[in-house]
Amino acid sequence: MFDKTVTDNYHDKIALQVREARKDFGKVPVLKGINLEIQVGERVALMGPSGSGKSTLLNCICGIEPLDSGEISLGGNSLSNLSNHELDKLRREKIGYVFQSFHLLPTLSAFENIEFSAQLVGIKKNQRLELVSHLLERVGLSNRASHFPDALSGGERQRVALARALIHKPRLILADEPTGSLDTANGNQVLELLKSLSEEHGVSLLLVTHDHTSTQICDRVITMKDGNLEIF
Ligand code: ADP
Ligand code: MG
Repeated sequence: MFDKTVTDNYHDKIALQVREARKDFGKVPVLKGINLEIQVGERVALMGPSGSGKSTLLNCICGIEPLDSGEISLGGNSLSNLSNHELDKLRREKIGYVFQSFHLLPTLSAFENIEFSAQLVGIKKNQRLELVSHLLERVGLSNRASHFPDALSGGERQRVALARALIHKPRLILADEPTGSLDTANGNQVLELLKSLSEEHGVSLLLVTHDHTSTQICDRVITMKDGNLEIF
């Protein structure tokens, strides 16, 4: 049923379309009619003061939070037409999410953290091992495979999280202040990886950042202010 209703229209060149998105928390309007389009392979930086609604927008895009009104489409699929099951599937298959605080499982090694995600999306054991090894190598952490998160530096943890976010070859990466808790050198390494991975695979990126230098890996910068987007 999913296959009939959800099509892959990424050849349309629009990876993400947000139209008149509105969201209130209680009586507080947080998104006040957001319009945004991201092309396939495009990297967009989202800036704006704390509390302006950036994380809420990302959560709505990946379907964790429902909109009150408006529309979000991923690769031509409107989220509002999907059942919860279809929404989960679309999110699992098309989106990679990277957070400021990494969200690694503390009792699993770097390898196992990535493998666990591969298992969740249904990749078979023999393929998993190869894929996880490849991704660890790609983010420069082959020699850290058996380390647990607390034995990794912040930058290494974020690179594990990045490898994990790529396991299902997503079409869109949502990165919410991914370098917010890293020093400049580690932050730059993560940003360069985000850039080269998006270029290699034609993956679009929506990168929330406070830091103007991080925007250099992006094609354009948009700013959120009081629940509205300013697009230049
Ligand atoms: P940003 O990421 O730009 O710092 P957020 O999207 O996290 O901003 O938050 C925007 C506003 O929405 C803030 O006022 C925040 O307190 C509020 N908010 C965010 N999530 C929730 C929630 N689950 N319930 C109630 N209010 C929320
Ligand atoms: Mg936030």
